[in-house]
Parts: sequence; C-alpha cells; structure tokens
Amino acid sequence: MNTFSIAIHGGAGTLVKGMMTPELESRYKEALKIALEKGYAVLDKGGTAIDAVEEAVKLLEDSPLFNAGKGSVFTANETHEMDASIMDGKTLNAGAVSLISGIKNPVGLARDVMEKSEHVFLAGEGAMQFAKQLDYKIEDAQYFYDEFRHKQWLEIKDTDSFQLDHATKKDSKFGTVGAVACDQEGNIAAATSTGGMTNKKWGRVGDSPMIGAGNYANNKTCAISCTGSGEFFIRGVVAYDVACLMEHKGLSLQEASNEVINKRILEINGDGGLIAVDVEGNIAMPFNTEGMYRASKTFKGEAEISIYK
Ligand code: ASP
Repeated sequence: MNTFSIAIHGGAGTLVKGMMTPELESRYKEALKIALEKGYAVLDKGGTAIDAVEEAVKLLEDSPLFNAGKGSVFTANETHEMDASIMDGKTLNAGAVSLISGIKNPVGLARDVMEKSEHVFLAGEGAMQFAKQLDYKIEDAQYFYDEFRHKQWLEIKDTDSFQLDHATKKDSKFGTVGAVACDQEGNIAAATSTGGMTNKKWGRVGDSPMIGAGNYANNKTCAISCTGSGEFFIRGVVAYDVACLMEHKGLSLQEASNEVINKRILEINGDGGLIAVDVEGNIAMPFNTEGMYRASKTFKGEAEISIYK
C-alpha cells in the first residue's frame, strides 16, 4: 500500500484557554474528528485527494462551530458572504468562488467552477447565476443564522471596524476551514472555505479563495490551506511561497512551512497558520498564534486532533 495522509484545520487565532469549556472543546474535537475520518475514508478506499479534501471541508462547512458555510460570520449588512477554493495538484486545475450567499457548501461550488466552467474564479452575482444554472438550492438566511455570530456582529456593527473571527480576546469560536490530502497514487490537493471577517464591507475578499495565497496544490511540491489575517496572507502569497521555497531552495515541507509562518509572514505582521502535505504524505501544521483547530491522520492510522501548541 502506498503512503497516504490528510490534514484539516478549523482556523487559527487567539484562543484564550480559560474561555474554552471542556464541553465546547470536546464539541470542536468531535467535529474535527468527523471531518477527518470522512476524508480519510475516501483515501483509505483508494479515492482521490481532491475528493477527500472536498468531503472533509463540506463536513466542516456544515458545522456551526466554524466560520464557513453554516457558521459563517455576519457582514456589515447583516448578511453572509462566503469564499472558497479547491486545487488539484496533479493537473493544477483549480476553482474558486467569492462573495456568494445562500450556498450550503461553497467548496462544492468551487469544485464545479473547476470542472464545469472554463474559468477558475467566479465572484458575487455571476457566481450565483452559475450556481442557479446548476440547480443549486439556495438556503434562506435562517440556515446560516447563529446566535453567537450575531452577537459578535452586534458588538461592532455601528463601528468602522471589522474583525477577524479569531482576533478577539473574548472569542472562543473562530475558524476558516481547510483540508489537504495525499492519496494512494501520490497525488495531492487542497481546499479552503470561509465566511471571512465579521462586519466586513465593500466586497472585502480575503486570501481563502485566492489560488497561491490561501490555497495551493502542486504535485511537484505541496498542497497548502491557510488561515489567518487574510490581507497579510495575500501580500505574502503564502501558500505559493511555501511551494517556491521547496522547489527553488530545496527546503523540506516542514522547513518551508515554518519559514513562511514563523518568519516571513511575521515580518509583515501577519498572524495565522497553515496545513501542508507533500507527495510522500508528510504533514506540517505550523501556526504563529495561540492555537489552531487542527487534525491529521496518516496511512499508519495515527490521528492527531489538537487545538493549542
Ligand atoms: N483568512 C480568512 C480571511 O481573511 C480568515 C480566517 O482565516 O479566519 O478571510
């Protein structure tokens, strides 16, 4: 049997340990475990990395605990605008959507952009037209309503500030989601999905749907999904930077990921983390914040589910 592995994340950020109750912590870990096992099962049965990351991210989107799909944060207009992307390291095919609303699983729509359109990135109204053409069900606002997220928004709605889901000291709930996987054929893939930032306006888009910034996969090097302060991750072209360090400087997956998260992105004041996998199934999950919801499992059957350092 060939090496295969998967890693997932549910966001990185300021997580004050005392704010997290044991019950909540176990709910997070359970949600991570369910998504991890779903993705792992795809790989175990000989399925593709791209299917595994899509399946895992869909389950994270369905959980209200994470800032993606159902748990997405509120915009300044009291709506939800979601972003997602997916990339296949074997073919370098990619699909992405941003500023979409009412779609239960944005990562599925990103995959449809990749496979059923001539394009890579569809945004806003046009992306919604594409979804309707494919007969996507449009969920009403109630599906995405979460009391905690609404309270987060009410606290800052009359201000000009916007907030990263994981930037608040009071928050114990944050999380863009993502998955990376290496399948039995040695192909790798990455997927990322987010609701963005609380109280965001002006069509703000972060790094999550941007190929090369928040998401990237290339069989030559690695598959990456990021979480953190999107503006900095865009400027740092973080996901592609990890791949470049491997390709052009010969760094290992671990070295390249560490260099970007614990040095390069910090130099421009970016905070966050990433999950990474290479074609040998190695996994790296560095972050420069207090915590990152994360989980991984390799073909040896070893699972790791953690939140803090
Ligand atoms: N990177 C995401 C964004 O800026 C946020 C996050 O990771 O939670 O939209």
